[in-house]
Amino acid sequence: MSVTQFNLEGRTALVTGSSRGLGQAIARGLAEAGATVVLNGMDAERLTAAADALRAEGHSVHAAAFDVTDEAAVIAAFRRLDAAGIEVDILVNNAGIQLRKPLVDFSAEEWHRVLDTNLTSAFLVGREAARRMIPRGRGKVINIGSLMSNFARPTVAPYTAAKGGIKLLTQAMAAEWAEHGIQANAIGPGYMLTDMNQALTSNPQFDSWVKSRTPSRRWGRPDELVGTAIFLSSAASDYVNGQIIYVDGGMSSVL
Ligand code: NDP
Repeated sequence: MSVTQFNLEGRTALVTGSSRGLGQAIARGLAEAGATVVLNGMDAERLTAAADALRAEGHSVHAAAFDVTDEAAVIAAFRRLDAAGIEVDILVNNAGIQLRKPLVDFSAEEWHRVLDTNLTSAFLVGREAARRMIPRGRGKVINIGSLMSNFARPTVAPYTAAKGGIKLLTQAMAAEWAEHGIQANAIGPGYMLTDMNQALTSNPQFDSWVKSRTPSRRWGRPDELVGTAIFLSSAASDYVNGQIIYVDGGMSSVL
């Protein structure tokens, strides 16, 4: 095998929540590796701008605005892709939200919102993708977990529960779909510089906590997930299944 095994030409990747942040960086990386990318988000204006930016860089891009928590919307989005002749070979379940407060202050609505966006979405979008990948006998599913897939911190209980769920949902997908030529793996990012962490990066105490607890002594950049995403999207990972790879500056190895 050579580096050509990382080539994604001829493949189409749907990346949920790719209008900004980690999803946008992953989509750009997969496009640079040769894939056609389908961007997704809720905010139509932001999604169009993200798609235009990638097109301007010469990439093949589609935009699919839908809410990953809405079963009917997910099914309809896949039907639109079917009608346009777009086959999803690679799915990156990345869309997510985070709410921070003590567990005792969370409402049930907030709990469900976080679980729906970070976990149920991976089931809903993953199911539609797999229903199409299974008859084709191949596919790649990458679920974005977190450091919190394996560790708990105060003030993010529903997020932690959802990301822990992502780890085992990934294993369940791998267990059921491996025989159909599908590999399902997860990426567990550490503390990354995105909108999601805006309030934390600008909080000097939190900023120095992250830097002191991360062996690399810094926050991660979104583009630092790209190599792992390309690996898990490509033939290079055809015998890797049900794994979570932490991209966290070493934090999960010392917590
Ligand atoms: P951002 O807040 O920067 O971006 C979130 C993305 O998800 C946006 O594109 C947003 O779309 C989209 N999104 C949110 N809700 C929905 C929905 N219901 N339907 C469709 N799209 C939706 O987050 P990050 O880039 O930081 O995070 C991306 C993923 O990485 C998340 O799963 C997160 O939990 C995970 N992660 C992030 C870490 C970090 O440090 N940043 C660390 C570990 C994991 P729109 O622009 O329309 O709102």
